[in-house]
Amino acid sequence: MEFNIALLKGDGIGPEIVDSAVAVLEKTAVKFGHKFNFTPYLIGGCAIDSTGLPLPQETVDGCLASDSVLLGAVGGPKWDDQPGDKRPEKALLGIRSALGLFTNLRPATLYPALRAASPLKDEIVGDGFDIMIVRELTGGIYFGDRGYREGNYGREAYDTEAYSVTEIERIGRVAFDTAMKRNKRVTSIDKANVLESSRLWRKTMHALAEEYPEVEYSDMFVDNAAMQLVRNPRQFDVIVTSNMFGDILSDEASQITGSIGMLASASLGASSRGMYEPIHGSAPDIAGQNKANPIATILSGAMMLRYSFGLAKEAEAIERAVDKVLNDGWRTADLIGTGSGAPLTCTEMTEKILGAL
Ligand code: NAD
Repeated sequence: MEFNIALLKGDGIGPEIVDSAVAVLEKTAVKFGHKFNFTPYLIGGCAIDSTGLPLPQETVDGCLASDSVLLGAVGGPKWDDQPGDKRPEKALLGIRSALGLFTNLRPATLYPALRAASPLKDEIVGDGFDIMIVRELTGGIYFGDRGYREGNYGREAYDTEAYSVTEIERIGRVAFDTAMKRNKRVTSIDKANVLESSRLWRKTMHALAEEYPEVEYSDMFVDNAAMQLVRNPRQFDVIVTSNMFGDILSDEASQITGSIGMLASASLGASSRGMYEPIHGSAPDIAGQNKANPIATILSGAMMLRYSFGLAKEAEAIERAVDKVLNDGWRTADLIGTGSGAPLTCTEMTEKILGAL
């Protein structure tokens, strides 16, 4: 098969880690007889430097014309003084909305080989965990009505959480379909004991659950979920939740894996085109030093193969190669302490993964 992939390398360590992922995708293509065509576009600080805008129209058009998008990271101290709408990070919201990406898939996986990286006790993490957080990305309080008004105590600010049945069903379906490809369990997280929008969320999820009799469904209040993630993370398979709850819980879930340089993510919409990126930022403190861990971006590439191109075997081959390298004890500097020997550079880690592939 042949696919066109837009590359948004961005700033800081972005170019280093995207180059690593491209090398792994290219080798995968050769191994399985596919052809991937890569076209780079500017985004973030580097785009501001050369065009004055964090998200040039050419980038949007290029992404829309491609089969999928691989993003590194944007931002850095050089652009911190830019006004709000000219900040590199603004480009992320812009490209997600231009591509109609309403779902964020964030796996939080603790590899057995990296158990020591988790801040949780051994008896809690056992031999690791594998959670998929499905977060609604374009609705809820981040996009609701907001403003200032006169209240009982004078001038007040307000934000509004609103969800329609259509939006809830749309994200719910992604969660149930994802669970069907995994361990067939969905936990929907809300605050239905307090919020009307959560009561509609819960009612809609229950109706949807009837369509997926093979999936074991449960509800959980968000405050309890925050506790359960650190008390017993292994109880979760797929978590589905609203934009704001997902924002908070997915950061908590990534923290308990202990390794920000390992975690991939996918943003998906109605078409098969998605945007795939590591969850970490541009790490300006180590940019240009060949120290970055490329694994989160490499695994984002694997997610692209699975979710946008339907190439599950190919995605698994990449994931197995990463597993093997970690099990063999190889580590980049951010993971040192969980393996042995001197840390590998970004390019050395990439070479190890290519070798294992
Ligand atoms: P960060 O994720 O860039 O870095 C946090 C810490 O983790 C740093 O010590 C960094 O060296 C380390 N780190 C991150 N990724 C790593 C990797 N692959 N390998 C090894 N170490 C890694 O977060 P920050 O420092 O808060 O933000 C830096 C810049 O990135 C800011 O401008 C921020 O706005 C931007 N940012 C961008 C995105 C994105 O593009 N999606 C996300 C978050 C932050």
